[in-house]
Amino acid sequence: MRGPGGGTADGENRRAIVIGAGLGGLAAACALAGAGRRVTVCEKNDRPGGKLNLLETGGFSFDMGPSILTLPKIFDEVFRRAGRTRRDYLKFVPVIPHWRNFFEDGTVFDLTPDPKETVRQLDRLGPGLTEPFRRFLDYSKRQYDAVNAAYFETAADNAFQMLRRAPLRQILRQDFLRTMDAAVRRRLPHPHLRDTMAFFIKYVGSSALRAPAFMNMLPNVQYEFGLWYVEGGMYAIARALEKVLKELGVELRYGCRVAKIPVRGGRAEGVILEDGSRIEGDWVVSNMETIPAHRELLPPDPRYLRRLNRKFGPACSGLVIHLGTDRVYPQLAHHNFFFSADQREHFRSVFEEGRIPDDPTLYVVAPSRTDPSVCPEGSDNIKILPHIPPLSEEHNPGEEAYLELKDRVLDKMERMGLAGLRKSAVVEHVWTPKDILANYLSTGGSIYGAVTDIRKNSGFKAPKVSPRYRNLYFVGGSVNPGGGMPMVLMSGLRAGDAIINSRR
Ligand SMILES: Cc1cc2nc3c(=O)[nH]c(=O)nc-3n(C[C@H](O)[C@H](O)[C@H](O)COP(=O)(O)OP(=O)(O)OC[C@H]3O[C@@H](n4cnc5c(N)ncnc54)[C@H](O)[C@@H]3O)c2cc1C
Repeated sequence: MRGPGGGTADGENRRAIVIGAGLGGLAAACALAGAGRRVTVCEKNDRPGGKLNLLETGGFSFDMGPSILTLPKIFDEVFRRAGRTRRDYLKFVPVIPHWRNFFEDGTVFDLTPDPKETVRQLDRLGPGLTEPFRRFLDYSKRQYDAVNAAYFETAADNAFQMLRRAPLRQILRQDFLRTMDAAVRRRLPHPHLRDTMAFFIKYVGSSALRAPAFMNMLPNVQYEFGLWYVEGGMYAIARALEKVLKELGVELRYGCRVAKIPVRGGRAEGVILEDGSRIEGDWVVSNMETIPAHRELLPPDPRYLRRLNRKFGPACSGLVIHLGTDRVYPQLAHHNFFFSADQREHFRSVFEEGRIPDDPTLYVVAPSRTDPSVCPEGSDNIKILPHIPPLSEEHNPGEEAYLELKDRVLDKMERMGLAGLRKSAVVEHVWTPKDILANYLSTGGSIYGAVTDIRKNSGFKAPKVSPRYRNLYFVGGSVNPGGGMPMVLMSGLRAGDAIINSRR
């Protein structure tokens, strides 16, 4: 007998326990249930989605986490593996323009998928930029193709696996010796264009000064595969995956926090819940990040934990500000960036000095440009997200420091064109790294999992397949291939594959 995703009867009736219903856990559950495995998902919160979260208040509907998606083909694969068609559950709507970029000197220009409009937009910055930009996008595509062949397709967890599984030619085509920022500077002459292209690293919450240059594949991800919003709001993704899993008979348990993973003879035996009850399982898949899972759920292993911390520490956290305003700000597109006057200083303070930046680059989202249902007519629904350091022993600021940052952020936006923003806010909701940590238990309140850093990990994340326990797997932003919705879904599918193909 074959499961809807093409699995064989081998392994049916054996149970996988998934800890966490973030997108990594939900994708793993789809792959496993689609291949006929019994699956129980234990989620500490009262709904699925993890950081893909929703706040409905005062007539506004705020997507608390992601506001756009890339690589729709990976979303399609998740549904296919569950024996379903994504279009029957979710409709993706293109976001155009892709980004609007605001600079302190008053310059505003858009990134857009339309080639003719791109030329017009680049001309707003200055003459002679079209050709270097076109060459940069060619370079970005070469990087994407190489990373896709050497890393995504092989599901490699480290350089040795990559060398064994990928053609050497593709491995060597990856620009891995210099930093993303150095490669951008070499190829693009204009400072605003450099800042814009270097900030693509925001998709994985890292620093262009520390990320390997092959991360310049990110513009290609956006230009080749498009930038998308989901009809009905981003949370529709969590609802759709929950529906599919229910149809497949997966047991979804909410308000169900896992307190321990009991182990014996190098194997995980299942999970122990906070109330002391125990669920036996043949495989355990942790969507809790690797560092907290090793610290809190597994037997103490200080050496391995130190190694995880050293190599796969957290990406940035964020101050997540949601404003519901009583007027519209027509200058905003769906997706905007308000750039720091000195973006390299922003990167250094967040990722090297562990300090809240004085003048951060801001990610600003106004989803009603694509979906008017997210706020009352005549108003705006605005998310503002400066990246800031995750919490650590050395960096643990009080509420006041975050409130000061919020003031600086609103000053910056008012200065850069959104006059009266503060006064127009009828709804305000703010989350600091402490709220992110409390809600999702991510390392230091990280929002993208593990950092991408040329010196610490050459862009690899922690392994999906536990090197410590035979039937334990990890999914989500802390493991390969890393953070952001498509990558996290891919980690879930690949961990599912590892289980389906294993005899353990
Ligand atoms: C403000 C913000 C904006 C973002 N913007 C974008 C964007 O525009 N596009 C994009 O692609 N990505 C974006 N991201 C990143 C994206 O949300 C994440 O990469 C992705 O959703 C993370 O999924 P995950 O499976 O790794 O983890 P999570 O979503 O963190 O899921 C982990 C789940 O495990 C549960 N859990 C943890 N420990 C336990 C336990 N012991 N027992 C039971 N349950 C447990 C948690 O409650 C949580 O539900 C954004 C994130 C944030 C916060």
